[in-house]
Formats: sequence, structure tokens, C-alpha cells
Amino acid sequence: MKNKIIAGNWKMNKLASEAKSLVAELKPLVADAKNTVVVCVPYTDIATVVAETKGSNIHVGAQNCHWKESGAFTGEISPSMLVEAGVEYVVIGHSERRAYFGETDATVLARTKAALAAGLKPIVCIGETLDERQGGKTEEVLARQIKLGFAEVSAEEMANVVVAYEPVWAIGTGMTATCEQANETIGYCRKVFAEMYGQKVADALYIQYGGSMNDKNAAELLSMPEIDGGLIGGASLVAEKFVAIVKAN
Ligand code: PEP
Repeated sequence: MKNKIIAGNWKMNKLASEAKSLVAELKPLVADAKNTVVVCVPYTDIATVVAETKGSNIHVGAQNCHWKESGAFTGEISPSMLVEAGVEYVVIGHSERRAYFGETDATVLARTKAALAAGLKPIVCIGETLDERQGGKTEEVLARQIKLGFAEVSAEEMANVVVAYEPVWAIGTGMTATCEQANETIGYCRKVFAEMYGQKVADALYIQYGGSMNDKNAAELLSMPEIDGGLIGGASLVAEKFVAIVKAN
């Protein structure tokens, strides 16, 4: 059995002063966690959170990065800027970025490749919308996102990749996929990865579930054999809820 990777996605929340307090609260509470703990924070919180988590078992992530190392890309942040700042993980292709900021499978691939080249561990998000699920298109959409989003990622690089299966209809809505739905869909994703990379790589790959995971439903979701962890939005902003998820299994 793998341990789990539990990652908080703070989205556009927490001023640096608030980030410092939240991480200071989390540190002792997760110190004995057997699961890997990650907090993916806004860019402006990175320096504070990296300093505050130094020497602890909390890993720091960002929520996006550009695919170029430098250049005329006003407002963007490069992977090596994140590495120098002490970041280890980076969320790529979150459904909010796909919906509001024009993220496509091609830009997901470009960002993922750049993140890997810089030594970051990308947490690559995939997932279907409600219309797609109700239209019976879940597998087709996920297969496309995986085949295009990972087209140039090598089997060796996959060892540093985390995938987050996040049904879009379950994000921030309070609607969670049932354990069976999440398990079955992640099992399908793993099958697609196995076709691309072989069974060994697919079995070793961490595939998280994300979408309204909280302190009440985490134990059941994380007990499912295909679910290797969680990407948690809302509940990661409240120390006791996030800690309960980290320790749920
Ligand atoms: C997310 O933002 O990745 C997420 C899963 O959000 P929430 O837990 O709030 O649904």
C-alpha cells in the first residue's frame, strides 16, 4: 500500500499574515502524519510559508507556473522562480484555470514539461464537467485530457508526477463523487496511463481525488484502493478540517 499525498489548494485565499498563522497551527498537528502533506499557496504567500514550514514535514506547492523559463510574459511566474523560492509541488491545469483562464490540454502539457524540467512535482488536474458526465462522456474526456496532457511526458518523468482526478461538478459545490464513482473513474484513468506507460508506471502513479473532500467524507474516500490521496480546496483553509483529512486513514 502507498502512503497518501494530501494536498491543500488554498486558491486565492490567505494574506501572508493569515498563511503564517494557518501553517503555524498545522505544523504540530501533522508532525506525526504518515501521509505526505502539501500546501499549495498563492505566490505572495510562498516566502512566508517556506520559512514557516522549514524543518517540518509540510511541503510547499504553488498553483500554476509558466512554460518558459524567462521572457516577455507579464504577470507570469517561471518554474525556476518557484524552485528558487523553495517550492516543491505545483498544481497544473486546475479546472478553474481551464474554465476562466483559457487553459487547454496543450498548455497543461507545456506547463507540466517545464515544471518537470525545473525539478518541480506537478499535480496535474483532470476531470469532467456535469454535462460531460450526464452525457456519458466521462471516459472520453478523461482519455483525451490524459493522452494530450501527457503526450510528451516520459515514463521516467512520470515518477515525479501526481495526478488529481477532480470531477468539475464536485469542486466547491458540496457535491462529492461517491466512493465507488471516484474509485471506478480513477481506475479508468490508471488504465489509460497503463496503455501509455505500462502497468508498473501506472501502478506507481499517485492519483488523488478532489472535489468537496472534507473531514467527514475523507476516511471513506481514502480507503478506496485506487485513491492515492486528495486535493482539497475549501477544507484546507481550516486547520482542524485539513488535519482530520491528513489523518483520515
Ligand atoms: C480544488 O480546488 O481542487 C477542490 C477540490 O476544491 P474543493 O475541495 O473546495 O471542492
